[in-house]
Amino acid sequence: MKVIQHAPEKLRIALVSNSQDLTKIYSKYTKEEKCLLEEGFHAGQPGSLFQPITVHSDSDWIPAHPEEPQDFETFYRYPYRQTPNESHSAIYIQTIGSFGEVRAQTDQYVEWLRDYCQAFFYGLSVKLLPAVTVSETGCSFRVNSNSYNLQILTGDLLRFLEKRKPKDAFCIVGITMIDLYPKESWNFVFGEASLTKGMGIFSFARYDDNFYTRHYAGRLKKHLEPRQGDYSVFDGYYTPPITSTLLLRSCKTMTHEIGHMFGIRHCQWLSCVMQGSNHLEESDRRPLDFCPICLRKLHTSVGFNIAKRYKVMNHTTPHFTKPTEAFHTSKLWLCRCLEILEKEKQ
Ligand SMILES: [Zn+2]
Ligand SMILES: [Zn+2]
Repeated sequence: MKVIQHAPEKLRIALVSNSQDLTKIYSKYTKEEKCLLEEGFHAGQPGSLFQPITVHSDSDWIPAHPEEPQDFETFYRYPYRQTPNESHSAIYIQTIGSFGEVRAQTDQYVEWLRDYCQAFFYGLSVKLLPAVTVSETGCSFRVNSNSYNLQILTGDLLRFLEKRKPKDAFCIVGITMIDLYPKESWNFVFGEASLTKGMGIFSFARYDDNFYTRHYAGRLKKHLEPRQGDYSVFDGYYTPPITSTLLLRSCKTMTHEIGHMFGIRHCQWLSCVMQGSNHLEESDRRPLDFCPICLRKLHTSVGFNIAKRYKVMNHTTPHFTKPTEAFHTSKLWLCRCLEILEKEKQ
């Protein structure tokens, strides 16, 4: 395992930058906010809120996909970054196909995801579009020739979302429990997005603990060859049970992918939900929240009160009726952030 430990000065430049205009904007943060943001400089030290990134194997994202790191200044000056404005301020979630075994469970799960995203992107509203079935999207589909599970074509789903996107949307995110493929020659894809069009489609199918085992219930009989346009194969098709681990994984995917819609690239600074992930184990390793550098990027785009955002996130969790044990560590972490932000008032 390799630890990517950046020098405090390097992290300071990544967060504050060396240019005068950005340093000036940074100076407007309160003493407590700066204290929280600068906690990142001591990543990995005992009691620190933030941790350095660890690389566990060559199949991890950073060795497998070398990218230019994006510091705050690069983000700020990026010509294609997207900022919500008064007429484009809502994040829309569109579910495709069924979620959970019973309808009530689907509704609760999706509501829960909505609440979570709304707290995370505090200041923006997150709205649910009426659910659609796979057949309503008119997408192409196939049976994967190795894993024998059903897969739907991302390009068709993006075209569908483009038509569905409401006028006041900052972005639209399609989610499905059915596996995806981007083209015939590919085995699968977790998702596909377009930053300039403000839309993306993501699948949670592979977040099922059994997906990669022989016992996966989404495997069809080997010889089934459904006809294109005959969507009856999707009737009663297996969807993963909604466990707290699945919730945690889907929250991370949603916030990571919506983060990209602002123009926030993969994080290479600190352990962060914006880190790229190449496989499920790496994705599970990521924390639920943003590191200070990504937080400043989001804050600049949305303009929320930092303490209020943590407070709302902290209060959003216990109201959920779903099992939330996987969120406990994150809740404790949010309380520590709030302690720093509210030091003066105590
Ligand atoms: Zn990503
Ligand atoms: Zn980050």
